[in-house]
Parts: sequence; structure tokens; C-alpha cells
Amino acid sequence: MPELPEVETIVNALEREMTGENFTKIETFIDVIRYPLTLHKEPELLNSKIVTVRRRARYIIIELANLHAVVIHLGMSGSIRIVPQNEARKKHEHVLFYLSNGQTMRFDCPRRFGFIKTCSLPTAGAQPPFLHDLGVEPLSPKFTGHYFKTQTAKRRGAVKNLLMNNSIVVGVGNIYVAEAMFAAGIRPDRLGSSLTEDECKKLVAEVKKVLRQSIKAGGTTFSDYRQIDGSEGKFVRELKIYGRAGEPCLKCNTEIIKSIIGGRSSFTCHKCQK
Ligand SMILES: [Zn+2]
Repeated sequence: MPELPEVETIVNALEREMTGENFTKIETFIDVIRYPLTLHKEPELLNSKIVTVRRRARYIIIELANLHAVVIHLGMSGSIRIVPQNEARKKHEHVLFYLSNGQTMRFDCPRRFGFIKTCSLPTAGAQPPFLHDLGVEPLSPKFTGHYFKTQTAKRRGAVKNLLMNNSIVVGVGNIYVAEAMFAAGIRPDRLGSSLTEDECKKLVAEVKKVLRQSIKAGGTTFSDYRQIDGSEGKFVRELKIYGRAGEPCLKCNTEIIKSIIGGRSSFTCHKCQK
């Protein structure tokens, strides 16, 4: 599933390709993805300049000069390509956005867990109203050890689940939680409320580090994720613990154990992680 670094990689590429252009036509080839598609019936989306493409959590926000916005969520296996208008449509390319520069932005979503919503924004740069309840961005200065400590102190549950709770911090995701917890030496099944402020600081620092490294590598491709030019994210080569069950820990050679926490695969070195 595309997590924050993958969405950030896509957003950066879309920002480069689309800012200053506008949509001249939008075609849909399906009525419903996760929600009904209405954007082909919204003339306000056409012929207004694209001023920014930005990210909030795992949402891609395309903001137009007339304060209308297209908000895209890739779901489990959604992807976006930018290709010339005359290129043949692929089977699962459900929505085609025609751009004023002769290119098309195509939304491909074989498993249909993704969605596209539209909304109007109260002011330029504002968040779409339906995203107001989200927690802090992990790479923002608001995500600190102290903040995470105050959040974990008032909640129950494993620290891993708290790091993946979008009302605390958004978009970190299973792969990056595993990597950050290994780097910080903290077991994913520890009670969140048992972490000291120093451990929270260490963990927050490692979350930021792993996300930044992954963005630099163009994200992580495990199965479906692709960058907008179709290439794979290269961070998969850097993974230290995720997906390595049964293999030796890279720090101490102890066998890495897989378990399920919060319904998701977790990987732990019981010697390095306390
Ligand atoms: Zn180890």
C-alpha cells in the first residue's frame, strides 16, 4: 500500500509536471471506485490553473486557482501515470485528466480501494474540510518526542498501533514503523504508555529519518507501487527488518521473528529491541 514516502514521491513529480497547466477534459470509465465518481460532471474543474499539488497524510491534493480541489487517495494499489494523450488506455485506468500541455494524468486502480473526491477550499492553501480530523504530519516540527509521549500516555495499546493511529500521526505505515522501531531498539508490542520521554524522542527521530531516506529513494516498491514514470521505488533495498522473518538480525545475528500486531505483520529482533 502506498505510504507517506510513496505519496510524497508522486506529489513531487505531479507538482513538477502539472503546476501552471489546467485540465481541459476529464473522462471517467467507471461509475464507482470506493465512492461514486462525479468529477466528469463538474465544469468548475476545467480551465482553471493548477496552482499546487500537495500532500496531506496519504491524500494527494490538486488545488486550482478557482479554489476547487481534486483529492486523490491511492487506496491499496492505486497509481498515477502521466503520459501523452494518444497513448492507449490501460484496462484499470478509470479516470483520465487531459492537461493543457498535451499530456494526460491517469488514475489506475485495479482493486478499487482508492478514491477521487472534489471539494472547494475556503482559502488558497487550506486543507480540504473532510481532512480536518487528521493528526500531525510526521515530518513536521509538531511531531516531537514530547508530543508522542503525551499522546501515548493517555491511550492504551501497543506502541506500534499508536504510531499507526492517524489521529496521532498520519501516514507512517507498516513498513516504516517496523524500520523505525528496529532502529530505535523498541519492541513493537510494548505498551505505548510504558515508553519514557527519551524513548519517544529516539523513536520519533527514527521515524523522521526512515521517511526522509525513503523519499530520497523514491519510496518502497513491494508489489504494486510505481512512481509516475512507471519505475519502482528503490527503498526496498534499504529495509533492515521488514519482510526479513527467519533471517538473521543485521546488528546481532539473532533470528528475526514475525508476529501479528493490530492485524498487520510485525518484525522484531528480541535481542536488539526492548
Ligand atoms: Zn538484533
